[in-house]
Amino acid sequence: MSRLILSALLAGALLVPTYALAEEVVVYSARNEHLIKPLFDRYTAETGVPVKYITDKAGPLLQRLRAEGKRTPADLLITVDAGNLWHAAESGVLAEIDSAVLTANVPVNLRDPGGRWFGLSERARTIVYSTERVQPTDLGSYEDLAEPKWKGRLCLRTSKKVYNQSLVATLIARHGETEAERIVRGWVDNLAAAPFSNDTKAMQAVAAGQCDVTIVNTYYFGRLQKEQPDIELALFWANQDSSGTHINVSGAGVTRHAKHPEAARKLLEWLSSEAAQGEFAARNMEFPVNPKGAADATVTAWGDFKADELNVNVAGRLQSAAIRLMDRAGYRRARRPDARV
Ligand code: FE
Repeated sequence: MSRLILSALLAGALLVPTYALAEEVVVYSARNEHLIKPLFDRYTAETGVPVKYITDKAGPLLQRLRAEGKRTPADLLITVDAGNLWHAAESGVLAEIDSAVLTANVPVNLRDPGGRWFGLSERARTIVYSTERVQPTDLGSYEDLAEPKWKGRLCLRTSKKVYNQSLVATLIARHGETEAERIVRGWVDNLAAAPFSNDTKAMQAVAAGQCDVTIVNTYYFGRLQKEQPDIELALFWANQDSSGTHINVSGAGVTRHAKHPEAARKLLEWLSSEAAQGEFAARNMEFPVNPKGAADATVTAWGDFKADELNVNVAGRLQSAAIRLMDRAGYRRARRPDARV
């Protein structure tokens, strides 16, 4: 082989990876397009770095990442719920990130102790009640909803949803399995209807008089309140005299096989910054994880509350225990519309 051809080949070999590594970021996102695209557009406008993305549900995205392995085009995974983030980390698709920016911007209880994922928005899962039939003074805690006074008055979303699995995981962390199971059995005994397929339907059942209380993520309450400002429902911050209201996150991690790991880390850092946090949270009526981020007016109108300070990582660590516990307690995973329990 002549030297000329060899050097031409080498130049080509050097050119190809340089081209492939051109700064861009490829994102797999379980957060909906309408919530992330405006942020990506802003980022590209500010930095010139293009952001490509696909969106899908958390499960299929993780499966895809695992199946693609080293060949994945994804640099950053954005997903919802600490339970899903924990699964992604445990299945080895996320890289450990050592970033002073991220550790400064994201509170320690809202990120992976191993640095593989970081919360980007905080959501609270709390009690919503009928303002016609319940006084806030009647309410107290998640645990209290297991008491006989709520018999036939409680509606819940299915136990299949990771949000409820995460909530029950924190009950296990705090009370131990035996007591957590007693609480969940109490909820099941108090159900007015079979579990609902989503939080909105559970709230609509309360509004319709089928039950008096439910447990939902606050942004679903916010959406319903925007659509129906006169709906006779209100939020109640659970567990203010004890553990604090259950919180969870949406968050992200750089993938293990990222082709643009530096660019991915920079985007993640920007998403956690004061400049981006307000919008990232507000688009879904959530709370910024960065204390410097400004919360949306609708959200601040719900008032201050004490949040549970347990590391949200527990949602993943105790998720399978929570699922088994809910199954044992007869908390149904499948929805049967309108069926009475
Ligand atoms: Fe949701």
